[in-house]
This record gives sequence, C-alpha cells and structure tokens, in this order.
Amino acid sequence: MEIRITKTKTPGVMPPEDKLGFGKVFTDHMLIVDWNEETGWQDARIVPFGRISLHPASTVLHYGAEIFEGLKAYRRADGGVQLFRPMENVKRMNNSAERMSLPQMDEKDMLGLITTFVKTEERWVPKSFGTSLYLRPFLFGNDESLGVHSVKNATFMLIASPSGSYYKEGINPVGIMIEDEDVRTVRGGTGYAKCGGNYAASTRAGEKAAKKGYSQVLWLDGVERKYIEEVGAMNVMFKIDGEIVTPKLTGSILPGITRKSCIEVLKAQGYQVSERLLSLDELVSAMESGRLEEAWGCGTAAVVSPIGKLAIGEKEYIIGGGKIGEVTQKLYDLLTGIQWGKLEDEFGWVYKL
Ligand SMILES: *Cc1c(COP(=O)(O)O)cnc(C)c1O
Repeated sequence: MEIRITKTKTPGVMPPEDKLGFGKVFTDHMLIVDWNEETGWQDARIVPFGRISLHPASTVLHYGAEIFEGLKAYRRADGGVQLFRPMENVKRMNNSAERMSLPQMDEKDMLGLITTFVKTEERWVPKSFGTSLYLRPFLFGNDESLGVHSVKNATFMLIASPSGSYYKEGINPVGIMIEDEDVRTVRGGTGYAKCGGNYAASTRAGEKAAKKGYSQVLWLDGVERKYIEEVGAMNVMFKIDGEIVTPKLTGSILPGITRKSCIEVLKAQGYQVSERLLSLDELVSAMESGRLEEAWGCGTAAVVSPIGKLAIGEKEYIIGGGKIGEVTQKLYDLLTGIQWGKLEDEFGWVYKL
C-alpha cells in the first residue's frame, strides 16, 4: 500500500524518560487510511498529529463500531527498534473487524503501515529498559447516516504514545475482587474481539473495585457466573499444585498475545499447562487447601501482573504470601528480556525494523 507522508512543521519534544506516563503524550504524526465499500482501502497517509473531524451522525458515535489493537515498539541496547509478534496483532485486528462487520485489511499491508509509521516516529521510541513506544491502531465505522446497517465507510488510524515503565516502583502484587454483578461479555458476544464497547461496559465494575481498594476485578463467565475468565483487561493464569491453569478460549475471552506467549514459554520449559475451564469453586478449594501457589494477570501493558490478594464477597485470600511467585517472575524476566532484546529470541518472536 502506498503511503503519502506529510511531515509536521512543529516537531514535539520528548518528555524525560522517567516522567513518561501512559497514553498522554503523542508523537508528531498519525496514520489514516479510508475505506469505502466501492473502492476498498485508499489514501493511506501519515500526517501531523491533531484533531480529526467527524460527521455528527458518524456510525462510531452512535452504534459503537470500533475496534483497536495495542502493541509496543522496543528500543534495543544496540539502538535499533523492534516489535514483538506484530503479525499476531494484525490477525487479531482482522478477527475483531470480522466480528464487528468492519472491513478487514490485507495482513502484509497492515504490517507495512505499522512499520512505516514506526520508522517515521523512530525518535519517539524511548531508550530505558521498561519504556516503549505504545502503538494504538484502531478502526471505526464512519458512515454519515443514522441508518442501522453494515458500514459502507470506515477509517483506520494509528497513533503512538511514548510510555514509561509499568513497574517504576518495582513489581508489586495487586489485590483483586470477584465481580458478581456485571459481566464483561458472553459467549456469542464480542468478548474475543478487541472492541471499545467491551471496555465501556467494564468500567463500572472497575470503579466499584477501586472504591473498595482493589486494583482489578476478576470476571466470571456471563452465562453461569461460575468460571473464571479474565482479570480487568488482562488474561489470567494460576499455578495450582504445580499445574499452570488458564481459562480456555471459549469465545468470551480475549485471545491475548501475552497469554499465548506465556503458554509457549512455559511449555518449552517443561511446565504442565492446561487451557481449561476453571471454576471459582475449584479456585476457592485450591486456596483453602493451600494448593494455589501463584496467580498473575498477563497483557502487553504490564507483561505480567502478580496477584497477591483475592476478595470473594467479604472474604479475602492471600495468594503466595502476597509476594510475586517464582513462575511469575520467570515469565516477566524472559518475556521482557526478549522484548527489549536482552535475551536471545529462541522463539522467533522479534520483528526488527
Ligand atoms: C488486549 C487485552 C488483553 C491482553 O492481550 P495482549 O495481546 O496480551 O495485550 C486481555 N484481555 C483483554 C480484555 C484485552 O483487551
């Protein structure tokens, strides 16, 4: 796909790397590609970052036709820049698009857009370990009409934000709480798609947890409210009696790339890993008999996030003495080592620009 590049005349200033937060500072440019039913994808362009204008009847504003991805560009010690399994994001973006009746894009074209954009914004990839340039591709329905039908016009965009280390104060296990009222999604719904609506519907539970002093909610399945699904906006894993258990992808769970990578790393290291249904009852009995050794969330933002405390109603359980477990630490060291180019990438996951 050909890309027209218009450079900004007022380049921004990169904040000091220890002051970078998440998603507040943006790079100099953004990428936009239009799609319409007749001509397909057209007019890919990188332009100065700024506000966009939408018709007040634009589909996305009324019917929520929006999907996104999240991946990072990492600076290696040799100064080069690399991505981590970007083709997985491209494929998932297309799967999400399919679910939401939004247009898909040729995989190589999408990867080409991402790499060209990162090269344009290279100076915004921070250098310290733990920092990265967070990339946010997104796609939305953009018909200028209130009629309810599959979209005839859509817009693909890519923006980027230099981000600080997730664990500035070291890796501290978090407290989480079972959510027994709201559900994130149901089988047959949009759980496996990375769509904005899933987030909009999960915010309330997160707020409730925060008020009670917990940093995330542990979601149960929406049908029986019996099986563990995810933690906040991360996948979740448990070590029970030596076995690593993670909820299987039933359709209501987001197929995380970090989840997939953890599974592959653990299997390569000889761990027994099961993707299966895990009921809250089973988890409680494992906690009560002292067989739950570790629990952690996993996702691109945090890589892994150890869980030190789980609340079920009024009852609180401490997991792994409230400290980060051995497997959790090992996964963190290995994945971040590969992502920042400090460890050899024996899996072939790294994509150098
Ligand atoms: C993005 C996301 C994840 C994690 O996926 P990664 O590819 O590992 O970043 C997990 N759950 C939800 C709901 C998500 O949106």
